[in-house]
This record gives sequence, C-alpha cells and structure tokens, in this order.
Amino acid sequence: MIAEVITDVSAHPVDRPFDYAVPDGIAEVIEPGSRVRVPFGNRKVLGFVTGLKEESDVPASRLKPVDELLDPEPVLTEEMLRLADWMRETTLCFEIDALQVMLPSALRAKYEKTVHVINPEKLPHELAEITRDRRVVAVKEFGEGLLPVLKRLASEGTVSIETAVRQRTNIKKERVLHIIGEAGRLDEIRGSLPKIASRQAELINWMEEHIGMSVPSKDVMEATGTTRATLNALISKGAAMETEEEVYRKPEAGLMPENGGIPGPLTDEQATAVGTISGAVDNRRDETFLLHGVTGSGKTEVYMQVIRQVLDQGREAIVLVPEISLTPQITSRFKRRFGPLVAVMHSGLSAGEKYDEWRKVQRGEVKVVVGARSAVFAPFRNLGVIILDEEHESSYKQEDSPRYHARDVAIRRAEEHGCPVILGSATPSLESYARAKKGVYKLLTLAERAKKQPLPEVQVVDMREELKNGNRSMFSVALAEAIRHRLDSGEQTVLFLNRRGYSSFVLCRDCGTSVQCPNCDISLTYHRATERLQCHYCGHEERVPLTCPECESEHIRFFGTGTQKVQEELHRLFPEARVLRMDVDTTRQKGAHERLLRQFGDGEADILLGTQMIAKGLDFPNITLVGVLSADTMLRLADFRAAEKTFQLLTQVSGRAGRHEKEGEVVVQTYAPEHYAVELAKDQAYEPFYAIEMGNRKRYAYPPFYFVTLIQFSHEDLMKVSEVAGNAARYLSGKLGPDTVIIGPTAAEVARVNNRYRYQCLIKYKKEPKLAGVLTDLVKIYRSSWMKEGITMSIDMNPSTIS
Ligand code: ADP
Ligand code: ZN
Ligand code: ZN
Repeated sequence: MIAEVITDVSAHPVDRPFDYAVPDGIAEVIEPGSRVRVPFGNRKVLGFVTGLKEESDVPASRLKPVDELLDPEPVLTEEMLRLADWMRETTLCFEIDALQVMLPSALRAKYEKTVHVINPEKLPHELAEITRDRRVVAVKEFGEGLLPVLKRLASEGTVSIETAVRQRTNIKKERVLHIIGEAGRLDEIRGSLPKIASRQAELINWMEEHIGMSVPSKDVMEATGTTRATLNALISKGAAMETEEEVYRKPEAGLMPENGGIPGPLTDEQATAVGTISGAVDNRRDETFLLHGVTGSGKTEVYMQVIRQVLDQGREAIVLVPEISLTPQITSRFKRRFGPLVAVMHSGLSAGEKYDEWRKVQRGEVKVVVGARSAVFAPFRNLGVIILDEEHESSYKQEDSPRYHARDVAIRRAEEHGCPVILGSATPSLESYARAKKGVYKLLTLAERAKKQPLPEVQVVDMREELKNGNRSMFSVALAEAIRHRLDSGEQTVLFLNRRGYSSFVLCRDCGTSVQCPNCDISLTYHRATERLQCHYCGHEERVPLTCPECESEHIRFFGTGTQKVQEELHRLFPEARVLRMDVDTTRQKGAHERLLRQFGDGEADILLGTQMIAKGLDFPNITLVGVLSADTMLRLADFRAAEKTFQLLTQVSGRAGRHEKEGEVVVQTYAPEHYAVELAKDQAYEPFYAIEMGNRKRYAYPPFYFVTLIQFSHEDLMKVSEVAGNAARYLSGKLGPDTVIIGPTAAEVARVNNRYRYQCLIKYKKEPKLAGVLTDLVKIYRSSWMKEGITMSIDMNPSTIS
C-alpha cells in the first residue's frame, strides 16, 4: 500500500503530496487524515496522509517507508481534507498551512534534535555524566559548549544526531484511588497497624465510608489531610488501588451572571426568524441567512432556539463569536442553556486546554462549540447549523497564511453538511448586506428590541465648539455632567476610547518631529507602565529622550490621548469615582478580561474605561451612560472601510447602554459631527448609511462592487523590492483582462517594518476568471527565483484593509 503524504516543510518550496510505502504493520489502521512521521531528505518530518493507493509512479527502490503512524484514529475527516484543498485553491496557501490551521496547536509538529548513543564505552567522561546510561538524549541537554565534541563523535560513529518529530499531544492524567476492600479487610489492616500510625488509621476510617468508590487521589488527601506517603503505605497493604486516568483540564472560572434570566415568549419577529431557519434545518438546506437585528433585539435567543432544534435532531452546532476577549458573557449564556454539551474554544486557553476541548468534539462528547475564528474547523461530523455572531467583525479574517475568512469556510462546510448558516449583526458588513439584497443570502430582520426598550438617546458633541468656548479638557461639558449625574445616582458609565497607551506619541513642539522607530516608518508609542517608547510593529523599545533627536530642543511633549491619560483626568475630575481600565495592557494576563468584567458586573466600579474590546457583548443592567471620547480617530485612516468601521463601532458602543429597565444615554464626542458615519450611527440608521456608503464604494471601485486582491512584497533593499514589485505588476497586466485595474506598485502605508521595505500591488476586478491561475503562476516565479533573493511575497484575495 502507498500513502500520499503532505509534509510539514512549508519553508521548502514543495507543495504536493509525496508517496511513501506503508509497512504491513500499520496498513490496516492508516487512513486518510492520519498524522505520520516520514523521512524527508535527511530529516524526519510530520506529515498528513491525504490519500491511499496501491501503485506509485516512484520506483519501489526509491520509495521510502512511513516511519510511524502518530495517531490510532485519523485527526482529520475526509470532509476536512476536501476543505483544505478548497482553501488552497481559494486563498492560494500551501496545503500544509490549511491542514495545520484546522488542528489545535498541540497536534502540530515540533522538532527536536536528539543524540543517539551507539557506542557507550567510547563516550568521553563529561558526556557520560550527562547521558547517565540513556541511549537517546535531547541535544539541548548538552549545552552549546559540547556541540563540537558531539559533532566529532558523530563523525566517528560513536553517536548519531537525529531530528525527530516531537508530538505535543499532552494528554493530562490524574491519579485515581479505587477503594476496593470489603469492610473486613480494612478492619484487618487497621488491626495490624502500629499504634503510632494514627494517620493511616484515620485514612482507613475514611475509606470505610467510601467503599466501592473511585475518587481522585489528590481529593482524598485533601479531604483527609493525609500525605502521599500515608496513602502509599495503605495502597501497598492492599487497602485501595490506584490508577492513572485521562482527564480534561477545566478552563472556565465559573459562569458569568446572565442578566434578565430566561426570557419570555419569543417576539413576533424572533418567532418568524426561528421558523424560517427551522425550515432549512429540517429540510437540510445549505441556505445562508443574514439576521439583521438592532442591538438588544434578541439575536442570541434566536440562535439558541435553532440550536435546541438541531440538538433534538441529534446534530451539532458551531457558534462563532468575535475574538474571545469579548465572550465570557456570551459563552456562559450558552453553557447555562446547554450545559455540558458545550465546549468553548478561544485564544485565551492554554494549548493543553484547547486540545482537551478539541478532543471532546472529536469524540462526540459535546454537541455545541462556542469559539473564535478557528472554531469554524471544529471536527463535527453531522452539523445542523453554523452561526457567526457579529458577522461584520474583522477578526473573522485571518491575516496570515492561510488567509481565510471564517464566513467563507462556514458556508463551504454548510454545503457539505446540508445545513444553514446564520450571519447575525446589528451592522452587517456591506458585502453581506449587498448579497442579502440580491437574494444570495436570505434577509431576516429584527427591527425592535426584545423587551421593547427604546434605543438610547444619542447626543453628538462637536469638540471644536468646546475648544472655542475655552474647554481644553478631553471631556465635553455635556459628558462631564452626564458622568456626574451617574455617580450621584449610583448608576454605571462605560467610556470608550479608540487608542491604547498613555500618549500615542512624543512630539517636538519646536520642529514638529515625532520620535520614530529606527526599524520602521512609524512613530513610537509611549507606555506609562514601563515608561518607555515602544514600536507596535516590530516591538522595538527605547527610553524616552530628554531632548528632541532632530533639533535637540527640550520642548518635547506627549501628544494624543490614551486610556491611562483619561484615567488620570477622570481621577482629577471625579476623585471619588472607582474606575476600571480595560485595554491591551491591563488584559494581558490570562483571565484578566473576565475578572474585570465580573468586577464591573458586580458593581465594584462606577466607570469602565476601555478600548475596542469593550464595545461588544457587554450587557449589564446598571449601565445607563456610554461615552465615546473620540469618535473619529478611525475616520482618518487611509482605508476604504474606515466609514463602515466607524459606523459599526458607534452603533455597537451605543447598544451597550440601557439594555434593561433603565433608560440609556449616549454621548459621542467628535471633531467631525457632520460625517455621515457619525450622523447616521446616532439613530442606528443602517439603511441610509448603507445607501450612501454603497454610492462611495461604487464611485471609487471598491468592494462589494469590485473584488480586490492585495499582493505585498518586502525586502531589506528598497531598490530590490520596488524592482520585483514592478516586474510582478507588469507580469499581471500582461496576463489579466483589460477591465481589471492594477494599482501600483506603490509603497505600503507603513513603508518599512523591521528594516524591510514594503511594496504592494492592488488588483481590482469585477470578473477575472483567469486570476487564480495567473496568481498561481506568479507564486511559481516567486518560489523559483524571488524567494532565493530574500524577497517575501504574500497574496491576500480578500484583504480587510489595504494599508
Ligand atoms: P442581541 O444579541 O440581539 O444584542 P440579546 O439576545 O442579547 O440581543 O437580547 C437582549 C436582551 O433581551 C437579553 O437580556 C435577552 O435575555 C432579552 N430577550 C431576548 N429575547 C427575549 C424575549 N423574547 N422576551 C424577553 N426578553 C428577551
Ligand atoms: Zn525638534
Ligand atoms: Zn519598529
């Protein structure tokens, strides 16, 4: 038997399966989707079996055998293998990247160099001390100083040095005590104990009360206050038996309170939506629904009703939510409703915890997965629905290879499983809404809030006027008054800022220069906590200079506003207010996000101050004021989605206020009150916004009217990269149709990152059937020549930004 294997050598320019002979011993168990270890060149690498066949074109003498089968059960289903093919074709990635992204990192290969001792007698003393009779020892145990010696010994044949695939499948085990003895036996043991062994006697007493039970050993020790030694003594006397058992790690730290409890009967709009989607579930139609519902309209309840139906039919559900940091509230809602049938997969889990959740899915122990982007690959075999909540979120797009969008993968999987997809949002992406209008997706609308609460009152404050009236503070008079009012009445405020750090950058008042990163074309950001300047692109850090690096003036100042600065200002204006700050800096630690939210939910603070990450999901009854400090920072970005993102963000943030009995108020501060994205977000006026924005997209030839593909190049040498980018642009324009527009090559918005210059070409097209083929050829040119010259090239068939 022959196995076709995709190997894990993505740096190497090969992207096709290789044939390997399957040894008799594993021929019966090996399957497509199995992981194997195979020889590749003079190394051993990880590979995935993508097919099995009887004959190979490679002559038998040159065919190498599979070294080892790594899993008793295949880790990928046939459906996943087809999905990987599809991802390679639609995103132009390496097949191995597509296969790996579907698996938890614990199942991806890690390589380790090992020393195999062939002739122990010949080992020099200093090495023998390290190997201590072992025949296989990791190279890193020897330390760098001994590498030359190892090399010499290898050439003499005393040892061999090999690269091996180390499996990172770390299944957690736990010792469990089985209390077997009948009462008589335990009595006997007690009788034989010396007087001083009172600890053992106590443990025997405990065991008598637990005969026939199996209890984790550490719980036994904890419950009885005994030590391992005491326990071991009794085990050796035959009082109990101990085994090692596989256990799951327990990621969640208790459930977040669900506010409002189980809601009443469905609203008419909810009932219509559930009914329509149910039809597709029953008839196994792979239909895509766009559930457009204002914030608080009860979309989540619609999801849960559909999932209940799917579970009743013995099928499974995937619920995707944006970036995990925002999910503690939402995941606990699902856990509450569906209990132990729910697995949670998100980036906050450790590799081991992720692997455990993945195994629960693979073994069919759970039926619902709630997770971030990559949960779309949950290895279910009988899906009944796939849901993307907040479908417009940019975190659904992966920004490195494979550059897939979870929405596309969901729709593709739904075709295979014959099940519907639900895309939910208060502010759908323009692409999705346009598709719904054309009838490609089916539009379902929830126009009213579930509890009929009015949408919050939104007041837009023109910050230019504030300045004219002599208010230099970052708080307008209106916002400051509103906060004061909340403090007095014991209600809560959420303040939203679109930046992180203390001050965005350091600026010289005399010459106007800002302090730049030496490696990148971008200003450094000041971080109060470390009192240093940091580059957000390459991680470079330096001390804050005392004088301007350009003109040596001492008048250098922090410029811009960050969460830390706002916090200080709040402290000055409202000394008694308890403020919680939630941004990248305060949520680095695992679980920090949940802790902060819980504290706020428990009323331990009056004001929650934060960046993007607080914009969604937050749902507490006591929040009656939302303040947006600077609505338009995003409008200045050179990005065709800038207006769309601003509108979405303002709508989402406003939706955080007054979701329950108490009415909500929103204050939005801006320097561009007349901008349509700000103006229309005030009333959550999605339709008018959509109309204006579509006009602009059409005028400037952007999605959804045109498709865009972005090709980026980078190299240390500016001349080299611009030359290659120019060649690529010429090559493309020679091959693509006359209606296709190629913009560039141009320098990227941040033209240098980590001392590499970046150039890009943008392809805009309406119909370009040849594109995938032409780009595949371009990749071949890249691999056969440009790559060797140190160029990196990346292709994004659906970039979420083009800067
Ligand atoms: P969305 O996801 O659209 O923002 P949610 O599903 O979070 O909205 O619902 C908003 C609030 O309304 C929640 O507190 C929820 O429990 C409640 N709710 C949802 N459906 C109903 C209903 N049919 N009757 C009463 N309350 C409801
Ligand atoms: Zn200066
Ligand atoms: Zn940098």
